[in-house]
Amino acid sequence: MSGTSDSHQRERVLRVAVPRPLRRLFDYLPPTGQKVTGFRPGCRIKVPFGRHVVTGFVAGTSEHSAIGREQLKPALAMLDSRPLLPPALLELVHWAADYYQHPIGEVFATALPAPLREGAPLHEEAEFWSAAAASAEQLPSRALRQRQLLEFLIERGSVSRADLALAGFSPALLRQLAGKGLARGELKRLDEETDWARPQPNATIRPAMNDDQASAVERFQKAGPGYRCALLNGITGSGKTEVYMRLIEQELAAGRQCLVLVPEIGLTPQTIDRFEQRFAAPVAAFHSGLNGNERLRVWRRVAAGGIAIVIGTRSAVFTPMARPGLIVIDEEHDSSFKQHEGLRYSARDLAVMRARKENIGIVLGSATPSLESFRNAELGRFLRLDLPRRAGGSRPALLRPLDIANQPLSAGICELAMMKIAQHLEAGNQVLVFVNRRGFAPILQCPLCGWTSQCEDCSVYLTVHSQPPCQRCHHCEARRAIPNRCPVCGNSDLQVSGLGTQQVEANLVREFPGTPVLRVDRDSTRGRDRFRKLLAQVIRGDPAILVGTQMLAKGHHFPGITLVLVVDADNGLFSPDFRGQEQMAQLIVQVAGRAGRSSGRPGEVLVQTRHARHETLKRIIDSSYSEFAQHLLAERRSAVMPPFSHLCLIRAECRDREAALSFLRRARRAIETPSEQQFVHWTGPLPAPLEKRQSRYRMQLLLRSPSRPRLRAVLARLVAQLDESAAPRGLRWQIDVDPIDLL
Ligand code: ADP
Ligand code: ZN
Ligand code: ZN
Repeated sequence: MSGTSDSHQRERVLRVAVPRPLRRLFDYLPPTGQKVTGFRPGCRIKVPFGRHVVTGFVAGTSEHSAIGREQLKPALAMLDSRPLLPPALLELVHWAADYYQHPIGEVFATALPAPLREGAPLHEEAEFWSAAAASAEQLPSRALRQRQLLEFLIERGSVSRADLALAGFSPALLRQLAGKGLARGELKRLDEETDWARPQPNATIRPAMNDDQASAVERFQKAGPGYRCALLNGITGSGKTEVYMRLIEQELAAGRQCLVLVPEIGLTPQTIDRFEQRFAAPVAAFHSGLNGNERLRVWRRVAAGGIAIVIGTRSAVFTPMARPGLIVIDEEHDSSFKQHEGLRYSARDLAVMRARKENIGIVLGSATPSLESFRNAELGRFLRLDLPRRAGGSRPALLRPLDIANQPLSAGICELAMMKIAQHLEAGNQVLVFVNRRGFAPILQCPLCGWTSQCEDCSVYLTVHSQPPCQRCHHCEARRAIPNRCPVCGNSDLQVSGLGTQQVEANLVREFPGTPVLRVDRDSTRGRDRFRKLLAQVIRGDPAILVGTQMLAKGHHFPGITLVLVVDADNGLFSPDFRGQEQMAQLIVQVAGRAGRSSGRPGEVLVQTRHARHETLKRIIDSSYSEFAQHLLAERRSAVMPPFSHLCLIRAECRDREAALSFLRRARRAIETPSEQQFVHWTGPLPAPLEKRQSRYRMQLLLRSPSRPRLRAVLARLVAQLDESAAPRGLRWQIDVDPIDLL
């Protein structure tokens, strides 16, 4: 920054967020000949930046600029007459930039569909043409096509260019008519602000609420109107969706819109179907499976008020609603609400802040709430609503550990479990087998010399895949052929170890030749249509075995499943991650929740383990998730870990290992002060658990503090220091506030 002349400026300057990784705003004069008045925050503006022209966002105006007026450049053009985001969402963008210490221009970019960042008009517009004469008489009769076009326009009034093309009139013909002053065109908005007819819930699929549901709905309503956040803690199958729907129903009846966030929409087409069937109102999906223009179309319709319910994944949290009514987060504990690159936001936390700023209600639902949300309920920040019983009359499934220490296994499954599978299939039911890894086997090794097959660019083993046969890195997706012999000792008898979904699938196909075996993981579900077909097949209910990863645990309703087998529960028991046990309990409870969901057919859940006496496993199996969560909370309290403290991770990545380390070391030395040691705890720099990815070494610095303000203050200084210190070439660093996994 130069020229700090603080001379009073008579004309205000524009403060602009530019799409660059810079944690500050830039000052501009209004475009030549224009006044600052009328430049509202949230409008896009074209400005010169370095040697480029970029599209930025007006963040505000100011009377002063730290830069001398003669050095300020004028902006080039304003792109909007109205802000892209309403005031509450503009505040949310600023809040997120500050909270996550992220460059403001990039936060704007994250919040908006890509075409808007690139200058697409805020509203969907099309050219409409109408006649500028009352009759076609004045045209000579030999101009037959022109006469026909003019008559068409006179008859139809106003016709879009697309409709004219459909009717067979060429652009050239239109130009000829316009040239004679007989037709004129204008731009019209297609997404005019709309209201839907007050929707009627479909009475045939609207069950009477049970007492728990009714009381949850009533308590939520009583706490309103305006901002309130509820934690809906309902066991799997307790009818949380019905509670959401009743609350949504009331908002729609008042003409307000609702936003429903779900973990992964491609996997839950059922959710959208359920809302569409229930409400005679426009429902739209907003997720990463849509391309930029599709997202923009939905975004515009929601912003204009034309969509009653928008169902989306985490990025939908920024979708503006013309008449906001309610936000629902289903499966609020799910880690997919956390963005793992760029602006590392938690859509759940942002949604709560958004509801606060828009002064509306928000419901966080889960059968396995996060410890953070339990804690917030304990502190009275969230209203806790419990649904402790299953709604449809079915009983919760029975969980049982299966000790597999010293048992012969066939592709990971013990004989007793195999017999159980056979029994359930014979009774005409379906079975779900949960395996937490995709591929065939996680390790390929040489038993003679101990060589293991590793990714050249990442510090992980290559996973062996059988369909198609190859080895793949699950971090960089590199593919290699499976070697015939050991590259070190030449031994041709290489062995796989460990278990993936493909191996379990192949084995079950052999064991149960007449039964369809459906594998559900990231490899089998590429392409949404295929996944839909798979699901439809399962929902029809004929005997079948499903083999899958956590994808299967998420919110599905498979009435035919009566047996769930967790092939290996031990990974979670000994996870080095402080959230390992929480995540393992969530997973087991969620998968178990897939069993016995239709009344009449009770469910059974078998958990294979080599540590059947392990305290944690016993707790998960013997107590309710809420009780287990209480136990974990007590542990976290004494360890001063989240939610009793706050974490922030600073990560540096570089091809040069030492450069990454010393970069973080210097930063720590520059910022850490002895007086703060009791409030902010520093760890590192240390190698990340996944030390190398895509040829870059990853080092990290972990900050922890029971006081968020203290942590924020240190973080702000740290970021300023990192911004200023000249990072070595090729070094990238990022900040992760409230990290979920410490990879
Ligand atoms: P959750 O989301 O809590 O796991 P769901 O909302 O999927 O549970 O509900 C489980 C089943 O119970 C569904 O088939 C649903 O239609 C049914 N259900 C929900 N509420 C009721 C009710 N009040 N009466 C009868 N059936 C209900
Ligand atoms: Zn070898
Ligand atoms: Zn790799």
